[in-house]
Amino acid sequence: MQFLYLNLIFMNIIYIQLGSNMGNRKSYIEKSMQQIEQEIGNIICSSKIYESSPWGVSIQNHFLNSVIKIESELSSSILLKKLQEIENNLGRARKEKWGERSIDLDILFYNSEIINTENLKVPHPYIQDRKFVLVPLSEIDTDYNHPVLHKNISSLLKECTDTEIVYEYAI
Ligand code: AMP
Repeated sequence: MQFLYLNLIFMNIIYIQLGSNMGNRKSYIEKSMQQIEQEIGNIICSSKIYESSPWGVSIQNHFLNSVIKIESELSSSILLKKLQEIENNLGRARKEKWGERSIDLDILFYNSEIINTENLKVPHPYIQDRKFVLVPLSEIDTDYNHPVLHKNISSLLKECTDTEIVYEYAI
């Protein structure tokens, strides 16, 4: 008699925000995507790259931002650790809040889970306040339902009062 063993692996669906405002910003975004594919999981889709002025501070380089949707077997805590390793590999120095950074990787959503530990808040608490997150997010999944606010990304973007201009990065 033959037995069929099914090896089912549960894939988590995760949205990650990538941001850079130092050095070769586009290259940092691209390199972090390569490392995410190698270390974390498959990138299902990615938004275009957008540019915007820095949030919370005024005298700095403009940010490039992008959002990716990935699938990964990793738990949320291991995922955070791996993202921080990638930030460190790419020379991220943790200085001031909202300060200059070669690469910043934030977990926006992890499945529809609500996580509130000392190190990790998911959904990311500022999604609804920041156009540089909502614009790329709406490009890849405008109907995605925010599990805490119970509104989709399109509604959050319409209601967002952030006055920052977010435009497609052309180069
Ligand atoms: P930042 O300097 O803005 O990248 O913040 C990094 C800190 O935010 C780290 O100490 C993380 O533990 C914490 N953190 C809390 N929630 C998140 C999240 N959803 N994604 C990434 N980092 C987070």
